[in-house]
Amino acid sequence: MTRRENADKFHDECGVVGVYGHSEAANLTYLGLHALQHRGQEGAGICSSDGRHLYIEKSMGLVADIFSEKRLKRLPGTIAIGHNRYSTAGSSVLKNVQPIMVNFSLGSLAIAHNGNLVNALELKKELESEGAIFQSTSDSEVIVHLIANSNAGGFYERIIDALSKLYGAFSLLMMTENELIAVRDPYGFRPLSIGKHDGAYVIASETCAFDLIGAAYSRDIEPGEMVIINDKGIRSIKPLYSQKHAFCIFEFIYFSRPDSYIFGNQNVNDIRKNLGRQLARENPIDADLVIPVPDSGVPAALGYAEESGIPFDFGLIRNHYVGRTFIEPKQAIRHFGVKLKLNPVRKLLEGKRVIVVDDSIVRGTTSKKIVKMLKEGGRAKEVHLRISSPPTIGPCFYGIDTPTRKELIASTHTVEEIKKYITADSLCYLSMEGLLKVVTNSEQYCTACFDNNYPVFTPDEKVEQIALF
Ligand code: AMP
Repeated sequence: MTRRENADKFHDECGVVGVYGHSEAANLTYLGLHALQHRGQEGAGICSSDGRHLYIEKSMGLVADIFSEKRLKRLPGTIAIGHNRYSTAGSSVLKNVQPIMVNFSLGSLAIAHNGNLVNALELKKELESEGAIFQSTSDSEVIVHLIANSNAGGFYERIIDALSKLYGAFSLLMMTENELIAVRDPYGFRPLSIGKHDGAYVIASETCAFDLIGAAYSRDIEPGEMVIINDKGIRSIKPLYSQKHAFCIFEFIYFSRPDSYIFGNQNVNDIRKNLGRQLARENPIDADLVIPVPDSGVPAALGYAEESGIPFDFGLIRNHYVGRTFIEPKQAIRHFGVKLKLNPVRKLLEGKRVIVVDDSIVRGTTSKKIVKMLKEGGRAKEVHLRISSPPTIGPCFYGIDTPTRKELIASTHTVEEIKKYITADSLCYLSMEGLLKVVTNSEQYCTACFDNNYPVFTPDEKVEQIALF
């Protein structure tokens, strides 16, 4: 059973948006979710408050299809949070779509969570043995139960008590009838930024959401920080602590949008271009043309072309009306998906020695089909694959949807074996040193997918259990 098909596990790879203090809170949240659609296409939801009640609308599907004008009108008030959820087979159902809204002894609460908790199953079992009834298979529901069950004094104390039991990644938005709370886990795995618009506060997974709304970026929510926004203003506390940070380096490589600024205001496009430049310095080859695997390979291919002096062009055309290859839940559809998505431009490729740049190889399926496509359909003379990250050898337990270790081709095959499998004329990856050279404060990243160095213990493997708090 693949990780994606295992319904017993939790998978969350999402985007979150929150607005406090705007008469069009739900509309702004909707726009923010639209900008963050790349972070999750399975379903989306918005919860709003008019100061007395919470209102919620959520469905499976894409943001633009879910929220009609009529539906948005059912979300009144000046506070809202929203969530985009990524597709995973085992849990591809409406009950897992967020925000999660509950009523408990202290009132109403809604939460939207980006990240993955590695001890969610243990916590769930514990809570169930104490009588909790779960409605979803989403790890985020654990957080709600922990808050409701906490014996700590006040509301904030309960939240802190609950969060201190969590291991793993959480960039979290919570709201009640009259406040918005944002928290980032002490490692800071997933990005979370705060900005201002029209005197209102806006919080989002990525700053590209601010651009669409017209909000100005203020700063990142810091790892371990909890920001509380209510009619008294904005307050920040630091209740969660870890000795180190572990920003997800894969956000730079693949997941975040190039126009976003994450992890201390670093532009994703800049980083990707520099990864391409570094890749060209490390792995030069004589060729006629540099082409990207669109879209995620585009900035790195531009960087590679600039550094090498080899002309750049779009040799593969992407059909934008199909989802990313990972999104279709079944393996059979995913195989078909590559062809559905990409087509070679023979006019550019015929008889040429082509360098094709992609951001990563996961199972190797995409690369194999692309090489075949470039040689057969495109009639390229040679195809040299360059990857702007090191070999992906470890699954992610902190919120990026990757398959199990044995499905990651680089965990069981050498670069030479992968080259043969995908039938490329040459294959080179970026080195780990090269990758770390490109980002600032290189010691602050989680690079587990490339070096198996997991900052927080993993649920699947008996990697040494490191206490989070
Ligand atoms: P594969 O065919 O499994 O080797 O997939 C490689 C392709 O998937 C590359 O073109 C990447 O851009 C893309 N990719 C890498 N990581 C992910 C992810 N977590 N979700 C979706 N696509 C991904």
